[in-house]
Amino acid sequence: MNKHAIIETMICGLRPTRRKPISDYHMHTPLCGHASGQPEEYADHALKMGLKEIGFSDHAPFVVKPLPGITMKMEELPLYHKMIEDARAGFKGRLEIRVGIEADFIPGYEKKTKTILDAYPYDYVIGSVHFIKDWGFDNPEEREKWSEHDVNAVYRDYFELLRASAESKLYDIIAHPDLVKKFGNRATADMTAETEETARVFKKAGVAVEINTSGRRKTVGEMYPALKDLTIYCKAGVPLTFGSDAHKPEEVGCDFDKAVDLAKKAGYKEYVMFKNRKVYRTVQL
Ligand code: ZN
Ligand code: FE
Ligand code: FE
Ligand code: ZN
Repeated sequence: MNKHAIIETMICGLRPTRRKPISDYHMHTPLCGHASGQPEEYADHALKMGLKEIGFSDHAPFVVKPLPGITMKMEELPLYHKMIEDARAGFKGRLEIRVGIEADFIPGYEKKTKTILDAYPYDYVIGSVHFIKDWGFDNPEEREKWSEHDVNAVYRDYFELLRASAESKLYDIIAHPDLVKKFGNRATADMTAETEETARVFKKAGVAVEINTSGRRKTVGEMYPALKDLTIYCKAGVPLTFGSDAHKPEEVGCDFDKAVDLAKKAGYKEYVMFKNRKVYRTVQL
């Protein structure tokens, strides 16, 4: 391991181990306006972390109106695909690079979202709930709005949107399925039934769920989803992927040793990899 890799290893607490997943399916590019580093730098770091396959999943153009600094613009989609194609060519034979995208679920805008997603081919589409009505509940700039809401109502609205996102058939993987906890706001009521219903809907809709390690780098200080929720997804038979949600190259593969521990504790024996919007490989944990 070179010096750079050792330093990054210290940052992420990741010791090279054969047990960690080989694919990281959630990372961004500067096109969204709040991530840094070129795709080649993400790929370089992936190799240092021992990954065999990565997929980019930058924030798709927002369907309601342009959101500068949060998502790509429509006009940037061709460049997004070109950047990934170039990186893929440069790393051929060393690292598989998939083309994904992370698209917000906004009820009422399913058809428009589909049009955006159908404009280019993807290996997978990640669905995300970052908005409840027009409140970006995980946006640091809108954090103070939590005080205007009943926390249990926010959690219930969030899970309802998660279920609707899976049922929309727009997505292959549902991202960070308890993102609502990001700032440490915790439901005071028991949300077990909400998660169980969500897991049942995910299974029926045929979507996978991700372990997203980025929560460890946020106020809440733990991955999405929590062990209790992940256990429910596992019991329901929902397939699993891994994502760092890297917004800079050195976050690729971050905490994947801990992610694999979480997956195993939850009961998962395998995870899946995507190509052309289909599971093409199942890997034992
Ligand atoms: Zn982002
Ligand atoms: Fe997200
Ligand atoms: Fe993301
Ligand atoms: Zn994300």
